Amino acid sequence: MHYPDSITALQQLLFSGPPPTSASAEEESGIDKKNIHCFITKKSQNISNMRNGVKYCSVEVSCDDGSQYGIQAFGNEAIDLYKEIYKCSMCGMPPKELEKSTLVEERIDGTSYSFDNNGCALIFKKLRSVMGEDKEEEHTA
Ligand SMILES: [Zn+2]
Repeated sequence: MHYPDSITALQQLLFSGPPPTSASAEEESGIDKKNIHCFITKKSQNISNMRNGVKYCSVEVSCDDGSQYGIQAFGNEAIDLYKEIYKCSMCGMPPKELEKSTLVEERIDGTSYSFDNNGCALIFKKLRSVMGEDKEEEHTA
């Protein structure tokens, strides 16, 4: 499976799951790849400069079926990948600065979310707690 670029590869993995291997292998395993969820398990803290001056950024994606994918980007694509992995979880805005220290990060239920500002982080947590309450009500009813 070939993706045009690292950002597309990441989006495909997170939204559609791992790419189908061969049709026969999928039949044998009996696993429907569509039901496999993938999530980011590791990501570059900052865009790094390699010794030859080329920018570099990487992200590791793990899927429910145990498969892992390392996605790497270089040069301008590294900047795009960085913006994609650190875009605001609330409004979807990419970070304004390419510095992790300027991001707002919140750890909620074991998952870390990044936001472009504190306001978005607050709204996100408020929405999540409201949804959580709804779930509990359903449970007791
Ligand atoms: Zn935001």
